[in-house]
Amino acid sequence: MKVIVVGTGYVGLVTGACLAEVGTNVVCVDVNEAKIKDLQNGILPIYEPGLEEVVHRNFQNGRLSFSTDLASVIPGAELAFIAVGTPPGEDGSADLKYVLQVAKEIGASMTNYLVVVTKSTVPVGTAVKVNRAIKQALQERDQLLDYDVASNPEFLKEGAAVADFMKPDRIVVGVNTEKAQQVLENLYHPFVLNGRPIVFMDIASAEMTKYAANAMLATKISFMNDIANLCELTGADVNKVRKGIGSDPRIGDRFIYPGIGYGGSCFPKDVKALVRTGKEYGHAMRILESVEAVNEDQKKVMFNKIDRHFESDLQGKTFAIWGLSFKPNTDDMREAPSIVLIEALLNAGAKVRVFDPVAMHEAKKELGERVTWGTDLYDAANGADGIVLVTEWNEFRLPDWNRIKDSVKAAVVFDGRNIYDDVTLQKKGFIYYGIGLARTN
Ligand code: NAD
Repeated sequence: MKVIVVGTGYVGLVTGACLAEVGTNVVCVDVNEAKIKDLQNGILPIYEPGLEEVVHRNFQNGRLSFSTDLASVIPGAELAFIAVGTPPGEDGSADLKYVLQVAKEIGASMTNYLVVVTKSTVPVGTAVKVNRAIKQALQERDQLLDYDVASNPEFLKEGAAVADFMKPDRIVVGVNTEKAQQVLENLYHPFVLNGRPIVFMDIASAEMTKYAANAMLATKISFMNDIANLCELTGADVNKVRKGIGSDPRIGDRFIYPGIGYGGSCFPKDVKALVRTGKEYGHAMRILESVEAVNEDQKKVMFNKIDRHFESDLQGKTFAIWGLSFKPNTDDMREAPSIVLIEALLNAGAKVRVFDPVAMHEAKKELGERVTWGTDLYDAANGADGIVLVTEWNEFRLPDWNRIKDSVKAAVVFDGRNIYDDVTLQKKGFIYYGIGLARTN
């Protein structure tokens, strides 16, 4: 089976590599020539645990190749995945220009029956537009080729993308013909041998499922952040509350950790896009409007604690920022809350020293020389008036606090993920601030 994956980012590259891993012949296509050239030379454009190995192995065995020329690789393919970006437009709606451009290019170059599958996150109704773009391009060529469109939203998590793709909780597929269903069933058969389901449904429901999933997860985060903030005011401890509610299987113990707000390339834009879809259909998504508002405020919570501690005198103070990516195990800096915090500190006249295990090259594009780039967490903490833990990378979990105490100017820790034990730190002479812990705030 030959498959084309258009868009070689976090989703497209992982999809292409993992499909090749189980025996499919895959060509990954991208308009970014530098990216494709690097991939042909074995250099990956993103950090994702385990991905490099899978890409190298399948590139070497010939099942995975890379191209910038869709028209030359599409003949003979049975499936073409669209996995390009769908960034938010000015009104919050998902910008479909890349998706529709690819659909047009597919229509302009296909030579045989093809299932065109949208893997990008797209609003309900997009498949109709994809279909129209393909049909129009075919008509312009006076071609009457048969094809189907399908929706196959992706649920992988950055930081665990390969594992998620290889062992999915479920695969959601929206189709409107038996033929397309059969093609996708064959493709995904190797991934569901462990009993996980392929959930087939109509296309509109598949498109909506992705937004409903991300919106539910974002809601859990904002809900917990709201509870955490109330805990601080009332004398409760959100860590205990979390354990108290998480043991109820109806609630579950995942995704109920408070922090400094969600970020990344998906939750913020998908919540906005679903709110926008609601508006289009005259239905206000009131919960999601609040989820977004709570999240915007939550990104400021750590700065407010810092500002209060230093009595609004941050001029000339130095802060160490541990972790920059929006979550551990990725170099993705899109909508990272670290940027909001760093900008606020810089605006207040503070100096910032940062360290992240893999995201510094990405973060440099945004922060440039406005911050000092540390070589490790200790270097970042050197001479600091305060340390702020932003991203809970494993290597930040058990620092040598005695060594840090000797090198900082003031021993104050602002823990944006509640990964440190306040009592231990206090015994070592640190002042500790967490999220949602009344006794430390
Ligand atoms: P990305 O920005 O990492 O990659 C998109 C790629 O598409 C880029 O390499 C870009 O050069 C390429 N591209 C743009 N226009 C093109 C064209 N006309 N032809 C060929 N290539 C083109 O994006 P991503 O994070 O992989 O996300 C892709 C989609 O998947 C989005 O809709 C996103 O919402 C969705 N998604 C992302 C994740 C995630 O964790 N990143 C998870 C699930 C779903």
